[in-house]
This record gives sequence, structure tokens and C-alpha cells, in this order.
Amino acid sequence: MITDVVIAGGGPNGLMLACEMSLAGVRPIVLERLPEPSQEPKANGLLGQVVKMLDHRGLHERLSGSPQPPQPNSGYFMFGAMGLDLSLLQDSPVYALPVPQRRIVQVLQERATELGVEIRRGHEVVGLSQDDDAVTIDVASPGETYQLRARYLIGADGAHSSTRKLSGIKFPGITYDRMTVCSAHATVPADWVDSATGALNVPGHGAVLPFLPHRTEHGGFSYAPMPGHPPLVSTTEWDLPESNAPMSLEELRVSIRRVLGVDVPLGPPDGAGPHVLRRLTGGNTRIAERFADGRVFLIGDAAHVYAATGGGPGLNLGLQDAANLGWKLAAEIRGSAPSGLLNSYETERRSAAQRMVLNAQAQAALIAPGSDVTGLREVFTELLRDQSTVQRLAELTAGADVRYDMGEREAHPLTGRFAPDMDLHTPTGPVRLAELTRTARPLLLDLTEEASLAETLALRHDQVDIVTARSQTPAPTALLLRPDCYVAWASASPRPDPMEIETLRAALQRWFGVVKPAHT
Ligand SMILES: Cc1cc2nc3c(=O)[nH]c(=O)nc-3n(C[C@H](O)[C@H](O)[C@H](O)COP(=O)(O)OP(=O)(O)OC[C@H]3O[C@@H](n4cnc5c(N)ncnc54)[C@H](O)[C@@H]3O)c2cc1C
Repeated sequence: MITDVVIAGGGPNGLMLACEMSLAGVRPIVLERLPEPSQEPKANGLLGQVVKMLDHRGLHERLSGSPQPPQPNSGYFMFGAMGLDLSLLQDSPVYALPVPQRRIVQVLQERATELGVEIRRGHEVVGLSQDDDAVTIDVASPGETYQLRARYLIGADGAHSSTRKLSGIKFPGITYDRMTVCSAHATVPADWVDSATGALNVPGHGAVLPFLPHRTEHGGFSYAPMPGHPPLVSTTEWDLPESNAPMSLEELRVSIRRVLGVDVPLGPPDGAGPHVLRRLTGGNTRIAERFADGRVFLIGDAAHVYAATGGGPGLNLGLQDAANLGWKLAAEIRGSAPSGLLNSYETERRSAAQRMVLNAQAQAALIAPGSDVTGLREVFTELLRDQSTVQRLAELTAGADVRYDMGEREAHPLTGRFAPDMDLHTPTGPVRLAELTRTARPLLLDLTEEASLAETLALRHDQVDIVTARSQTPAPTALLLRPDCYVAWASASPRPDPMEIETLRAALQRWFGVVKPAHT
């Protein structure tokens, strides 16, 4: 028997892909080598466009524990440990969701299970081979080794991906082996914390804003008071001697003294763990030479990894890989995918990954020690007074400057971008656009005067979800969204002309293979 899809790895990205595929009607099997979810502290939260994407799937509510839609940060943020004044922007692209990775995995696992995904824990992919029809996967599980045949295998098995290695896909890139990051959950003197701003007022040094990396000529320091957890205190230093000694709070105290030039008395963390106490040396920034090899695809850390700087791009990118691949692969399996659809996964996600490499490397260069870097930072600080520079860097950090090629020459500015959220009035009542996309289906939103786009094109509801509505915002007047919530086509005309209707028809063909109506 041939299974449609096997996903190697039940981390955040593998589970997200499993949810996306199930929404599209294909139930994958997830093989996860760990018998229980990992408790290793990794991401402290999600940053950027992915937060909006999770809202478009109804997952933001589950993760934040609040029915409120995500709110953009319109205050202060950082690029290369330099202030970005987001209040200069009309529309800040920076969204944050401070939720630890193990909670993200828990929520995604619950969602995947609700959607009928089979998750086999304690099952590890140890070998694979491909023929014209399927991938044969060797699986080691407690007490037995067995084989699975699947039409597609997805490697979501992390930075050291066996799927990538077994497929002979190289992982070129850079190792920043000069950098050491020491981190610990710890207590700090309560009277040093500014109750209004949350900043840590370090006597002899000054205020350190929470969550934002702080650079001196000797290294970096950050203070992150996570809600419901003890603060996470970190330093970044360059060219430290190698150490095999276990990490300790004392090591972090000494490191802080070198970086800030003063002592910060740290105490052991309060409350239940697991608590972070780690030293990470080096950091890889790499992109797989291919994201696909025949019937094998890579997503998330298996496809790309980044050095720690850059505002946590890992999950912003990986979860959106899953949203990009899920509907395309499901369409391929159902036999409804237009030609070239599956290939667009690599084209689109490679350019997003390259943008993140640029982001990570630029930020790493700007936080390096030395007076020359200090000079560069002074120039940059001047540039950061310009609204357009802040906009550009905020979008880079948030991954909001990704614009896919939708094949239209003079397209609407929204075409190729992630859908904006909009308050809509539909015949059944008020709704946000983000609430209409939770089924992960193609969506035509018609706000035009005559609301007859679907009728003109003889579109059926089983091909595309069709919603007519009114909105307070004048533009756009119509949107065609792909299931990953990227805008495939948009119009600003209250009455789109025949040429625009033709570009809509072309977009429907290109992305969904919707057959041209016979009577046109
Ligand atoms: C210290 C640290 C802090 C970080 N902070 C942030 C942050 O703040 N924000 C952010 O966005 N990102 C952060 N990241 C990056 C983020 O954690 C990763 O991008 C994310 O874990 C990638 O998810 P993934 O599902 O691709 O891979 P993983 O999380 O690595 O999951 C892969 C899964 O595959 C399983 N597996 C491996 N091999 C096999 C096999 N052969 N067969 C079956 N299963 C297998 C593993 O057990 C694992 O469960 C951080 C990472 C680290 C290490």
C-alpha cells in the first residue's frame, strides 16, 4: 500500500504541515523519533508575519489564549541592536507572540490530532530510496524496523535532517564560530526593574530595554522577562576560549561584567522549570542547495538555518514553508495541480530564505565588537531617523517584504504579498478577513459594486470560496487569495474592466487550474 505523504519530524514545522495538508484533504503520517515532545528550551516566541499567518488559521487565539487579533508593535524594536522607532510607521509590520516553542508544538500537535493526523512517536526515519511511483522509507521504532511506501516524503527533521543527508542534498553556508551566546533564566534585583517600561536599570551602566538586544564594544546583552517565567538573561561575546565546563550562573555573571563593565547580581530562577542554562558557541547560517529531490521535499530547519541574531527568524520562515507547501502538494496528490505549481514551492521559499540570510548576516555584522563597527552604527543611527529606512528594516525583520511573482506585469501593490486583515460586512454579518481563511481554501473576496465577479467567470463554490462583502476601507475592491493567504490577484476598481477580469481568470488558472468556462 502506498501512503500519500509521510512527514519526517514532529517538530513545529512538521506538525504545521500536517495540519495544512489535512485541511486540504490529505492526511499524512508524521514520524517523530522522540517518544515524548522535547522539553529543550528553544524559541521564546514568534516574530513577524507568521503571527498573522497563525491568526488566519485560528491558531493565534489558541496560542495567545485571547480572542483579540494580533496587534502590531508600533512602539520600539531593534535591528542589529539599534533602535527602530516603529511609531514613525503608519502600518507597522512587526508582530510578536511570546509563546515558548514547547507550547507551540503542543498546540500544533493537538490541532493535527483533531484533524485526524496519525503521529507515530518513537519512530525514526533511518533510510530512504525512490522510484518512479514512491519513496520507500526505512523506519526504526521500538522493537522493530519496518518500511513505508509514500508518494511523497517531507523532511521536517530539523537542522541535522536525516532526510536531507539521505537524499544527498548539500547544506552550504557559513559558520560563525567566533560567537558565544550564554543564556540563563535567573532572577535580577526587583528594584532594578522599571515598573512602567519593564527596563532593567543597571547601576553604573544605564537602562536596558526588555526583549531588545543591547550592544557595547565588548559584546551584547539582553534581558527578556517572559510572561509567567523568570527573565531570560543573555550575553553574546566574540573569540572566547573554548570551554567544556558545564555552564553556570557564575559564568554568565562574569560574562555580563565583561560586556557591560559592571556587575549584575543574578539569582537562581523561581518556579517550575525546565529552565535555560546554556552556552552556545558558533551559529550556522545555511540554505540547502535544493529544497526538493524527486519525491522528497525539505521544510523548516531541514532547509535553512540562521545564526541566533536577527529576531528569531527560524519559525517565521519554517511555519510559512509549511503553509506554502501544504496546499500545493495536496493539489498535486488530488491531481488538480496546474503545471508548475509544486515547483513554485522552492522558487518562492528559497527567495524568502535568502532574504532571511541577508537579515541575519547584516544584524550579526552590526552587533560585532570593535570601534569600526561602532562607527558604522553611528552612520546607521542617523539613517534610522528616516521613516522609509525604518519601514524597510522593519519589513525585512518581520519577513513582510516577501513578494511572490504572481505572473502579472502591472499588478496591484498587494499582489504577491501576504493578505492584509480587513473588517468586512458580509450578508451573514461582520467578520475579519483572517476569519474567512481558516479552512485553507482558495478565496475570492468580492467588494466590487456589482459583486458579480464569480458570476462573470462562472466560478463555482466547490472550486473557490466566494465571499461578497462591504468594507469601510476603499481599496482593494477584490482579492483572490491562495490557501497560504498570499494575494494571487487584486483590484482597486469598483467595476473591474474586461482586461482585469482576464487577469483574474489567468490567476485562477495559474494557481488552482480552474477550468475556463465553456461559454466564454
Ligand atoms: C536556543 C534556540 C533558540 C531559538 N529561538 C528562536 C526564536 O526565538 N524564534 C524562532 O523563530 N526560532 C528560534 N529558534 C529556531 C527554532 O527553534 C527552529 O527554527 C525550529 O525548531 C525549527 O523547527 P523544525 O520543525 O524545522 O525542526 P525541529 O524543531 O528541530 O524539529 C525536528 C523534529 O524532527 C525530529 N527528527 C529528527 N530526525 C528525525 C528522523 N530521522 N526521523 C523522525 N524524526 C526526526 C526531531 O526529534 C524533532 O522533533 C531557536 C533555536 C534554538 C536552538
